[in-house]
Amino acid sequence: MILDGKCPTGPIEQTWDKHRFDLKLVNPANKRKYNVIVVGTGLAGGAAAASLGELGYNVQAFSYQDSPRRAHSIAAQGGINAAKNYPNDGDSIYRLFYDTIKGGDFRAREADVWRLAQVSNNIIDQCVAQGVPFGRDYAGYLDNRSFGGAQVSRTFFARGQTGQQLLLGAYSALSRQIKLGSVKMYDRREMLDLVVVDGVARGITVRNLVTGEMESYSADAVCLATGGYVNVFYLSTNAMGCSVTANWKAHKKGAYFANPCYTQIHPTCIPQAGDYQSKLTLMSESLRNDGRVWVPKKKEDCGKHPNEIAEDDRDYYLERKYPSFGNLAPRDIASRAAKEQCDDGRGVGPGGRGVYLDFADSIARLGADTISERYGNLFEMYEKITDEDGYKRPMRMYPAPHYSMGGLWVDYNLMSNIPGLFVLGEANFSVHGANRLGASALMQGLADGYFVIPYTIGGYLATVKPGQVKTDHDEFKKSVEDVKAEQNKYLSINGKKTVFEFMRELGGLMWENCGMARTKESLEINLKKIPALREEFWKNVKVTGSGAELNQQLENAGRTADFLEFGELMCRDALHRNESCGGHFRAEFQDAGEAQRDDVNFCYVGAWEYKGDNKTPELHKEPLKFDNVHLAVRSYK
Ligand SMILES: Cc1cc2nc3c(=O)[nH]c(=O)nc-3n(C[C@H](O)[C@H](O)[C@H](O)COP(=O)(O)OP(=O)(O)OC[C@H]3O[C@@H](n4cnc5c(N)ncnc54)[C@H](O)[C@@H]3O)c2cc1C
Repeated sequence: MILDGKCPTGPIEQTWDKHRFDLKLVNPANKRKYNVIVVGTGLAGGAAAASLGELGYNVQAFSYQDSPRRAHSIAAQGGINAAKNYPNDGDSIYRLFYDTIKGGDFRAREADVWRLAQVSNNIIDQCVAQGVPFGRDYAGYLDNRSFGGAQVSRTFFARGQTGQQLLLGAYSALSRQIKLGSVKMYDRREMLDLVVVDGVARGITVRNLVTGEMESYSADAVCLATGGYVNVFYLSTNAMGCSVTANWKAHKKGAYFANPCYTQIHPTCIPQAGDYQSKLTLMSESLRNDGRVWVPKKKEDCGKHPNEIAEDDRDYYLERKYPSFGNLAPRDIASRAAKEQCDDGRGVGPGGRGVYLDFADSIARLGADTISERYGNLFEMYEKITDEDGYKRPMRMYPAPHYSMGGLWVDYNLMSNIPGLFVLGEANFSVHGANRLGASALMQGLADGYFVIPYTIGGYLATVKPGQVKTDHDEFKKSVEDVKAEQNKYLSINGKKTVFEFMRELGGLMWENCGMARTKESLEINLKKIPALREEFWKNVKVTGSGAELNQQLENAGRTADFLEFGELMCRDALHRNESCGGHFRAEFQDAGEAQRDDVNFCYVGAWEYKGDNKTPELHKEPLKFDNVHLAVRSYK
């Protein structure tokens, strides 16, 4: 099937304004007749729930944490982009649009990206009004720094804690609506099923994580803002609870999964230290504003103390290979370059899996105090984890799984192919193409939540009668029974391997064979090994405790079971895409280490339809058209 993204046509600068005008409205008195479910209260969901509540809809918001403040968005460090052009260095909405399309390696929709760039400026105004303490310069103006893939400074930041500060802003807006009664917050609830009645999304089934009870909620529309799936690699920079579960359950109820193979491996993370580690730690890309990346030129120098390696014996490989962007080359490119150096035997640290990020020059130029003001908390974090002082010796970095560009397919209105099901933030596939530029995820989450969904959901709700289906409908009862049966199955297997053992094994397969580089052979290995691992899981997993209590083993069993199915889809998608683009690097398709796209055959969004357990999913395509940015080989040289 050819998918239609329903993008508005006409001059790109007018598309969003015209579309907003064309969308039907729900009048203020009618809004309170509509119920909307928002699953996820990170930046995307928190902003959406607060905005929809403010508009007058009845919102029911869900998260599995005990407070929206604990959503994974809190981890975001470096900043959020906007085209304000405050530094007067040549930025514009068009340039942010252009950089994002190019950064995504021409695999995103133009209209969606334009809208993102356009509303980016509103986000900053909104957050400043909320009191988000963005960094300011000496004169008191909002300050900016640079992120990868851009030659301008357009990133607004709150030291190294931007996500936390933005989340507190969204949380305060949300709290206001909770107090006013327009939003009802259900925390410690995990969505385990989407309820679809006659092809329309009507509600969800959740498990109360404290009591173990199953609960059903109905609504006139359901918004998923449930984050990304890179924990499929087991080790990643994401919080331990991040999972594909909400998306996967919706997928199994008919929502198409778009571009699952587009995953981002972030170049600057603290290298793995041992086999029993459960997390990897990101060191924000903002550090590459002032840190220089290098490895020894000579293999025999790799074991030396870095400060003893002479300047002439250092290879500042990003500056050498990409002189125009230097250390701020985009993530996919910088990650591959790091791997290349390490594969060449010039990596540093344990196992030779590391490159240096060196602040000596910046400290000499600006002083340690300035560096500390900019990134102090990141240096502290690095020292706590590695016991090394980043001010005195270069930090060691290695790429790690970080972000998922793929997600549920949505049209321009952020509605999936299931009417009434909307998807926001990292959970959808919409704007980043095959590679996300730094500081663009926060921008997208808040754009979707504050400035897109409040308009587009109205366009949908205006066409439906409120309250048509309630939780006494048979589909809700069936959903609860199905979820209960699945939970009981996990508990009854009583095998010999823990959930974490399965997850670690799956993550290993994904990293080895579907990670920074993939080949036809490696993907085919996974397509054999993952189903076998899944089969073993259902025979040999051990989950202790019961379903009628707080049981994190049970929670993780469900998330792992979903990853075991999703991992296969990711490999299938990577295998079918016989090209390299952005974070999807098929080693067979390269030009001396650079990704080689095939625009003739693969210039489309690939969206997969679930066809049943152990059945081959069906691929649908949405062709991509580029009328404003011409398809070209992406170069940062
Ligand atoms: C360490 C780190 C640093 C980052 N730094 C930056 C940065 O500087 N700039 C930038 O732009 N981006 C950054 N990112 C990316 C960015 O933080 C995320 O992409 C973004 O915050 C995701 O927001 P979200 O609202 O889509 O999802 P999340 O914040 O992940 O929120 C998901 C929500 O969904 C809920 N949820 C999930 N599943 C379920 C379920 N089954 N049932 C019920 N609730 C569920 C959770 O409880 C949570 O409330 C960073 C990411 C990491 C990991």
